[in-house]
Amino acid sequence: KSGFVSIIGRPNVGKSTFLNKVVGQKIAIMSDKPQTTRNKVQGVYSENQAQIVFIDTPGIHKPKHKLGDFMMKVAQNTLKEVDIILFMINAEEGYGRGDEFIIEKLQGTSTPVFLVINKIDQIHPDQLLPLIEKYNNLYSFKEIIPISALEGNNVPTLVDQIKAYL
Ligand code: GDP
Ligand code: MG
Repeated sequence: KSGFVSIIGRPNVGKSTFLNKVVGQKIAIMSDKPQTTRNKVQGVYSENQAQIVFIDTPGIHKPKHKLGDFMMKVAQNTLKEVDIILFMINAEEGYGRGDEFIIEKLQGTSTPVFLVINKIDQIHPDQLLPLIEKYNNLYSFKEIIPISALEGNNVPTLVDQIKAYL
């Protein structure tokens, strides 16, 4: 099995931390060089059964300056071309304006979207359900997976869920 996964989410939700954790010692590609392609490969998870290419999708974060229509279309087309989109949120911060912007962009795609609730090590378990309910009302997520990218909790489960969709 192999496929492409785009990780989107507001700054500081833990996207890079997750990538480092999931790609671990098995880094096949990890480039800081500027890439001319519109999709920046950030890491490849590979094992005997699966290869998962994680990519960054520039332009899907709420821009500080108004992005041209073209850039926005490029970003949205990218989301249509990947196999799975991971929409990562910070459990500590909850819902915010940046999420509203991203969810708006997700409405135009039929690609499966997983809600990844990160930093669960920072919250009380009771806080999880209200958060899930809030986001469930905003978008029809295929899977909702709480993780701690820092500590690694549930990260293997998330990888298994990704594999199940490839
Ligand atoms: P990005 O901007 O989405 O790539 O976020 P980063 O991966 O750079 O993480 C932002 C900050 O959150 C860093 O200080 C991380 O150490 C921290 N962080 C990321 N994941 C977790 C987590 O699961 N738990 C906790 N407590 N901190 C985390
Ligand atoms: Mg980052």
